[in-house]
Amino acid sequence: MPTIHQKALGFVKSKAPPGDVTAILAAFDDYGTNHEFLMNVGPEKGPMLTAMVAAQPEGGRVLELGCFCGYSSILIGSALPSGATLTGIEIDPDSVAIARQTVEYAGLSDRVEIIEGGSSDMIPTLTGPFDLVFLDHWKDLYKTDLIAIESNNLLRVGSTVFADNVGPLFNPEEYLEYVSTSGHYDTKYHKSHIEYTNREDGVEISVYRGK
Ligand code: CA
Repeated sequence: MPTIHQKALGFVKSKAPPGDVTAILAAFDDYGTNHEFLMNVGPEKGPMLTAMVAAQPEGGRVLELGCFCGYSSILIGSALPSGATLTGIEIDPDSVAIARQTVEYAGLSDRVEIIEGGSSDMIPTLTGPFDLVFLDHWKDLYKTDLIAIESNNLLRVGSTVFADNVGPLFNPEEYLEYVSTSGHYDTKYHKSHIEYTNREDGVEISVYRGK
C-alpha cells in the first residue's frame, strides 16, 4: 500500500510540471482539499510564511523543523532571497524521502537540504545563526526545542521564529507562555485557520531579542 505521502506526491506529479512551484503547491492543496487531509501549512498561512522568508537578508539561513511532504520546504525555498538557504529537519524516513523528491521536482535542491533525524538530536549538531526558524513539528517539542536552539546559539538578535498551529486545537500553552514571558522575544499571535478548513488556527511570530 502506498503511503499518504507517496499518493500525494504521485498526484502532484500527475498535475504539475517539474520546476513549477506554484502549480506543485496548488496540486498539493487540491489533494489536501479534495482527497485526503494533508497537514501542510496551506494556502492561507503560506503567504504569511513566504512574506517572512522574503524579508530575510541575502545569503540568509532558514531552519525548518518538521517537513512532512516538503510542501513548506518548497514554499520557503521558492521565496528565499538571493544566496539564502533552507535546512529542514525531519524525523520520519518516509517523509524525508518524499520531501527530498518534492524539493528535487520543484528544482530547489541547490538551496534546500532535508536532514533526517529527530529535532532534539539534530539541533546540537547545527551551526548558527539562522535568520528565520519555522516550527512545524510535534507541538509538544516547540518549547524544549526553541530553548535548545537558543542554548546552541542558533539565533541572532532579530532572528524570527514562526510557529505554526498554535491556535485552540493544538494549543501549545507552554510554548506560548515561554515566548510571551521569557523576555527573550517580541511576540504576536496571528489568527488564521487550520489548513483546508474553517476551524481557527494561528501562528505565533516571535522576534529574538537576545537573552
Ligand atoms: Ca503545520
